Amino acid sequence: MELKDILTTFLRRRHFSGIMPRAALIDMDGTLYDSMGNHADAWMRVSAEAGFNATREEFFLYEGCTGAYIIDLLTRRSFGRPATETEMAELYHRKTVYFNEMPLVGPMPGAREMVDIFVRSGITPVVVTGSGQASLIDRLTRDFDGAFSPELMVTAHNVTHGKPHPEPYIRGMQLARVSPSGAIAIDNAPLGVKSASAAGVFTAGVVTGPIPGSALEEAGATAVFPSMTDFAERLPELLLTMASTSV
Ligand code: MG
Repeated sequence: MELKDILTTFLRRRHFSGIMPRAALIDMDGTLYDSMGNHADAWMRVSAEAGFNATREEFFLYEGCTGAYIIDLLTRRSFGRPATETEMAELYHRKTVYFNEMPLVGPMPGAREMVDIFVRSGITPVVVTGSGQASLIDRLTRDFDGAFSPELMVTAHNVTHGKPHPEPYIRGMQLARVSPSGAIAIDNAPLGVKSASAAGVFTAGVVTGPIPGSALEEAGATAVFPSMTDFAERLPELLLTMASTSV
């Protein structure tokens, strides 16, 4: 489908007359950084130690959830009971330690180009992540030429409900002082896409790992792109289409 048709359908469904994006709400892991393989490996190490039944692939699907949510889910499935607060804190701490021991990953190919286009278009980038890992958050400033300001970041520390709840993306809009018709969201995971879509935002689902585009569509992505490079290439066209489309 053409971007214009996708946009028109979205506007009618949301009862918006148009979209004037002033903020880009951007997921971090698997979107800005190619970090999901390391996360999956760290989770597998914790799972083996805790005695959880888990597969490496499933951690790609849980992407965007808080650590506490994932530990509770694995505990319920493996032991038939909820996780205690202590278990959630202790196991998530261990996962963070293992993750930080791994070699640093670089920005996702295409991510810098995307951020540059937003900045040049006067659209403020806002990070919306389920992660609370300081290591990646600190690197954002350096890797993306100061495009992200620390006060415009939604992390595990400033939401009550993680993705797929809409709270993280709603919080991102509050920080940037925009409404859903003044924002665009970019996320690579089904739960992240669900969160953004439930927050009412035009949601670009981007395929960057083993999760197929069809899963992002099912999660409610407004448009699906096969890679971050492809999204960055089509972004100027998308922004022009937004500027010229009203219903
Ligand atoms: Mg992600």
